[in-house]
Amino acid sequence: MVEELRRFGIEDERVLSAMEKIPRHLFVPEHLRHLAYEDSPLPIGHGQTISQPYIVALMTQALELKGDEKVLEVGTGSGYQTAILCELSREVFSIERIPELAEGARRRLEELGYRNFHIRVGDGTLGWPEEAPFDRIIVTGGLPEVPRPLEEQLREGGRLVAPIGGRFDQDLCLFLKEKGRLRRRVLCPCTFVPIIGSHGWRK
Ligand code: SAM
Repeated sequence: MVEELRRFGIEDERVLSAMEKIPRHLFVPEHLRHLAYEDSPLPIGHGQTISQPYIVALMTQALELKGDEKVLEVGTGSGYQTAILCELSREVFSIERIPELAEGARRRLEELGYRNFHIRVGDGTLGWPEEAPFDRIIVTGGLPEVPRPLEEQLREGGRLVAPIGGRFDQDLCLFLKEKGRLRRRVLCPCTFVPIIGSHGWRK
């Protein structure tokens, strides 16, 4: 999988070695484990998916993590992306809407020995105000626009990565916060499940 990511243009060695280390097969349902190292999204139950490895790598690379960041993740899902963030940053705060997914992710991450994460069940479009500001924010589901609370909770000079666009097709966007405003760069087209919440999509 990692060789394929390299061929697709992922260059950040820290991202590649985190993805080499983390056993993706432990984050997918047992009957799909034989597909865990293919470059494709897979169902994880409750109508949700674990994202395609290339997109996970691209989003993580865009965050430019050096190891000392406080990171907010919206959409814990299986916890796979959370594990990568735990490897590459200081502390991870992750929010998931579906309690069963949050619980499964917490268990997997604990079993793998991660201690630098916090998972909360709730509406991630509201962010995690008590812990703000964050150096980095990653949203792993589609949004019509960047939720105002997330914009406000991003530190000056911080980076935010999110799929922005329609309900079924989005652009994967990197935002840099400069002088209190978000500057946007489109990375590539993408297709994510929707983020449902008060600053996201309705049901
Ligand atoms: N990054 C995850 C992984 O590695 O498995 C995949 C995330 S999946 C593509 C998107 C997740 O966002 C789903 O688990 C979904 O339940 C969650 N979600 C949707 N709306 C949400 C919200 N308002 N707050 C938090 N999580 C939300």
